[in-house]
Amino acid sequence: MTSAPASPPTGRFAPSPTGPLHLGSLVAALGSWLFARAKGGRWLVRMEDLDTPRVVPGAADDILRTLERFGLTWDQEVVAQSSRIALYDAAFEDLLRRKEIYACACSRADIARAASAPVSEEEDSSNARRAAVDAGGGGAAPQGAIYPGTCRNGLPPGRAARAYRFRVPAGLFAFEDLLFGFLSEDVETIVGDFVVKRADGPYAYQLAVVVDDAAQGVTEVVRGSDLVDSTARQIALQRALSLPGPSYIHLPLVLGPDGKKLGKRDGALPLETLDEARVRGALAFALSALGQEPAAGPPREMLETARRRFDPSRIPREPRRAPG
Ligand code: GLU
Repeated sequence: MTSAPASPPTGRFAPSPTGPLHLGSLVAALGSWLFARAKGGRWLVRMEDLDTPRVVPGAADDILRTLERFGLTWDQEVVAQSSRIALYDAAFEDLLRRKEIYACACSRADIARAASAPVSEEEDSSNARRAAVDAGGGGAAPQGAIYPGTCRNGLPPGRAARAYRFRVPAGLFAFEDLLFGFLSEDVETIVGDFVVKRADGPYAYQLAVVVDDAAQGVTEVVRGSDLVDSTARQIALQRALSLPGPSYIHLPLVLGPDGKKLGKRDGALPLETLDEARVRGALAFALSALGQEPAAGPPREMLETARRRFDPSRIPREPRRAPG
């Protein structure tokens, strides 16, 4: 019997083309590039352009040219999620057939109303825990309140399907993050059944990312820690689809000069401003945010030296402030 060849180490950068690359996304791109390239692995780029209302025309191309300007070159052709709908359709149909997802008629207002209705003590404490996760920043259920399960056992009479939700299995979903250690989340309690196909049509990030990482043979997901609390949901979906799970590394965030979440304008790296001095400066910032000593010399040399000397044990957990 011959066994399938193991995937070579494969990392990826998966930007959403909603604007130019900025210092925060540069850290994620550089971090995933370093992890993959330091061990001679592949590095892929995927455009996560399913959230059409947020996609900015020209941003995808701009991001790619910017990556090139930094010397972050990729393997294979860049894939755009908008050209892979058939793959998500197949996963969706599979989950639907096995009743792991279900149609939901609830609007945000319905869910908010249900969440503010008087609740039992047990439900109340799970809402409080959820609020704590939200306060921890980013990534938590985008729909706001925990889904109360209204449509879990079928659409209420006379109501039409809007979104589709994943029936989250009970229990903890755990993973080992190289930087943050052992993490686990009770997705059912903290998030509830989450959306895999949105009311306005597109497949949700959580479903697409899981399907794509598996289809592209991604073995390590290296991304910003604003996405750390999406990981348990993604693992739950991987299991439901019997997909292999990559390893996870969540990198320190870049904050604005004021110490708050990086705004749209803070740390932007518009292509037209990227002369060599600015490329060097941004690369030096991103390397030091990753705990790596920036070497002297032109950007290409800095990058090559960083690849050769890459030491993941030096990556700090603390966020880094972008220069003002
Ligand atoms: N497209 C996501 C973003 O730009 C990143 C997804 C991921 O790395 O899993 O925030």
